[in-house]
Amino acid sequence: MSGDRGPVLVAGAGGFIGGHLVSRLLDEGRQVRAVDMKPFDGWYQVHEAAENLVSDLSVAGNCEDAVGGMGDVYNLASDMGGMGFIENNKALCMLSVLINTHLLKAAHERGCERYFFASSACIYPDYRQRETDNPGLKESDAYPAMPEDGYGWEKLFGERLCRHYLEDFGFETRTYRYHNVYGPHGTWTGGREKAPAAICRKVAEAKITGTREIQIWGDGKQSRSFMYIDDCVEGTRRLMESDVTEPLNLGSEELVTIDDLVSIVEGIAGIDLERIYDTSAPQGVRGRNSDNTLIRERLGWAPEVSLRDGLEQTYRWVYERVSAGASAGATVPD
Ligand code: NAD
Repeated sequence: MSGDRGPVLVAGAGGFIGGHLVSRLLDEGRQVRAVDMKPFDGWYQVHEAAENLVSDLSVAGNCEDAVGGMGDVYNLASDMGGMGFIENNKALCMLSVLINTHLLKAAHERGCERYFFASSACIYPDYRQRETDNPGLKESDAYPAMPEDGYGWEKLFGERLCRHYLEDFGFETRTYRYHNVYGPHGTWTGGREKAPAAICRKVAEAKITGTREIQIWGDGKQSRSFMYIDDCVEGTRRLMESDVTEPLNLGSEELVTIDDLVSIVEGIAGIDLERIYDTSAPQGVRGRNSDNTLIRERLGWAPEVSLRDGLEQTYRWVYERVSAGASAGATVPD
């Protein structure tokens, strides 16, 4: 891919998407500085070829140090998780505005050339997501705003800040609204995991322990689309090298219910479980899908990995971790 504007900072590099992005950038021959606040033993991937730093990017001075000498900045740092986390930690989620603000300001002031912000489908209003048969959220559906409380407001604020840095200062910002991303080397246990990883883990546990039941959050009819990590990284690189400055969806259009998701994973595992529905558990919106008309128009590309193919890889990776943990008497970390 073109566009070598010098060294690249990946913020949130110890996390799921950040770890994969660092790998991709190194493969492209880029010089990478990888930063995360977690100690190294908590990073999902540590790439020795990168300059790896532990730093809290909610602190302005740390952002100034992190962006020094960088051409591009990718902001993937955020205090987030699946529905169980974001519904119960709204203040913590909103505090990521400190990262978004200090990092963008520092990148602009220190002369970086381009800045990427990871927004989310959680910025879309609840009133567009009340039916399971969601036709797909278009970028123009974002307003009038009524995002997911806490996390969605943080993301919408981050998007608008990028937009105004572009309009007021001519600073080159790029923004995606990621829809559920899944794959290996992601959060799969501990309370921050999202549905695909959680279901892979529960099915793997059932397979290993011989349990015949699976607990599902909600009634199983809520719908979503899920994007495989390879599409996420590919799309992120394509956007960064493009001249598209408006926020775009980056998500799959393959809409499934949570029941469908469970059936696919059961099929991969070769198991059939009795479903126990917990309708008091956090479920988020009723139906959410991505409309990819605009990304196809602007980039001539859209995510292409099928859910079945992506889940095969993810299940295999989660299964290895669950079975290693089971034989060691505990779950193994990433
Ligand atoms: P993740 O939780 O795996 O990674 C985020 C990383 O940011 C973590 O490693 C965390 O330690 C780090 N971080 C948090 N606060 C920090 C701070 N103050 N300083 C430095 N690092 C800090 O999440 P992810 O799935 O890799 O998501 C990356 C980005 O994409 C996030 O902004 C997230 O909101 C966004 N996003 C993700 C999804 C998804 O499905 N994974 C969907 C929509 C948007």
